[in-house]
Amino acid sequence: MIRKTLCLLLALLALTIPALAEETDNAPIDPRVQPAVAISFDDGPSEFTQQVLDVLAENDCHATFFMVGTSMDKMPEMVKAVYDAGNEVGLHTWRHNDLTQMEANAVVRNLELCQNIVTAQTGTTAKWLRPPYGRVGPSAYGACRALGMYIATWSLDSRDWETQNAEKIYKEVMGQLRNGDIILFHDTHAPTVEALRKILPEIKARGFQILTVDQLMSFREKLRSDTHYYHLDLSKLKPQE
Ligand SMILES: [Zn+2]
Repeated sequence: MIRKTLCLLLALLALTIPALAEETDNAPIDPRVQPAVAISFDDGPSEFTQQVLDVLAENDCHATFFMVGTSMDKMPEMVKAVYDAGNEVGLHTWRHNDLTQMEANAVVRNLELCQNIVTAQTGTTAKWLRPPYGRVGPSAYGACRALGMYIATWSLDSRDWETQNAEKIYKEVMGQLRNGDIILFHDTHAPTVEALRKILPEIKARGFQILTVDQLMSFREKLRSDTHYYHLDLSKLKPQE
């Protein structure tokens, strides 16, 4: 009897697994129904970006890459590769600038230089800005309002650039993971790639969706340019469909 039930369960499981896999390929699910996090990478593109793209593809997920203008200028083909693989391209200023030290019109010019490369490589413009050092103020808000952009910081710092150790990066992320998190990584070091090989399957095994910043934030009731978002606030979502 137990054996029969087990067989039946296994057969049911075999039937439902492909259906679930298909679902994750489609539109993101409301985080009230299935928890979700956004994964983001700062400071690229670099020699490690392609390896990050490979790990994302192996795990059937997408992320947001907040790129530095001067690095995009050196590796424009990586901007295209990131976008063509289904990921989101965001901006991280032209020279990793501290935006609190600049006037709003200088920030606008800075971001426009970045957008020129994004448009040339992808035919689109970036919607999200990640301010270097997480520093934002009136000039960043003003520039984003003028350009129709939004600002995303993070709620979970993998501290990858600091520890440069795959095991520590893994523990930092998996020890704190919460629904609505925006997770910060950097696609500029090998230990991050190694850590992702463990982290991405583990996040999925815990039942979370892995989304881009724009996908995660699309569940929010209303987006404004004169503030910054460090996570998806689950008390401020659009009414459930
Ligand atoms: Zn940075």
